[in-house]
Amino acid sequence: MKIFGIFGDPIEHSLSPAMQNAAFRALGLDACYFPFRITKERLEDAILGASAMGFGGLNLTIPLKEKALKIVIPDDLAEAIGAVNTVSFGEDIVGHNTDGLGAMKALEEARVKIKGSSALLIGAGGAARAIAYTLAKEGAEISIANRNPGKALELAGFIQGEGYGLEDLERLVPQADVIINATSVGMMEGDPRLFDGNLLHIGQVVFDIVYNRETEMLKDTVKIGAVAIDGVMMLVYQGAKALEIWTGLKPPIDVMEKAVREELKARER
Ligand code: NAP
Repeated sequence: MKIFGIFGDPIEHSLSPAMQNAAFRALGLDACYFPFRITKERLEDAILGASAMGFGGLNLTIPLKEKALKIVIPDDLAEAIGAVNTVSFGEDIVGHNTDGLGAMKALEEARVKIKGSSALLIGAGGAARAIAYTLAKEGAEISIANRNPGKALELAGFIQGEGYGLEDLERLVPQADVIINATSVGMMEGDPRLFDGNLLHIGQVVFDIVYNRETEMLKDTVKIGAVAIDGVMMLVYQGAKALEIWTGLKPPIDVMEKAVREELKARER
């Protein structure tokens, strides 16, 4: 049996084990996918250990994606993004990044036009880096707002966009065609709003990459009548691309989506 896994800290919230194990079953693979709580300090030991034990592949999540760059050999995309969320084991231990592609596919599926659009990206962490890079490649004009404005400016410089602090959202939100929340705000019940929902208007798209609950930002979007997209399909597509990298097989997208939605429902109970 091949072992796969996801490393992160915390890791209990991850839906990837349910999603990837469902995919392995559907593909008839003798494989199993487990969550492992791994701290930044032990990441190198853990990756080398997984390699020594013949693991089939890994995903990495908070807070390991940037640190992993220095441990594995990143492919061109992971190097350009500056973060690794997927590791494959062959002759070399190679780092990949499938987050940007996952976000892009979720937007495409919702028929959102990116080329030439004005995109407001909130956040400047690992996921935001992947999305910023991908949106810039697809021809969006990007503004980035972050709690730490220095990080927004740094990321904006990297993709020739504009960087701001969160206090600028009041002015930026009404002007944007597509608004993307790539912060962790909204993951927890009771999290504050990043901006007043009344700043939104019909015709805008709001993509919140948080996937574990319907966030206040998405509730506000639905109330206003704008297009709301949650993080579930990004999760599915980034995981599907990882599965394809590890196995070379065509991922069963429907099975993976169903597994995620069922797991989310089970956790509500
Ligand atoms: P990260 O690298 O730790 O970045 C976190 C981001 O959130 C930073 O921009 C940070 O701002 C901001 N932030 C955190 N707490 C905040 C607060 N109280 N107020 C304002 N901003 C705050 O994390 P990540 O890997 O990018 O993940 C971010 C979120 O995306 C998580 O919810 C994660 O689950 C989700 N995600 C979803 C998918 C998917 O497939 N749907 C994939 C990847 C990630 P500072 O820079 O100022 O600290």
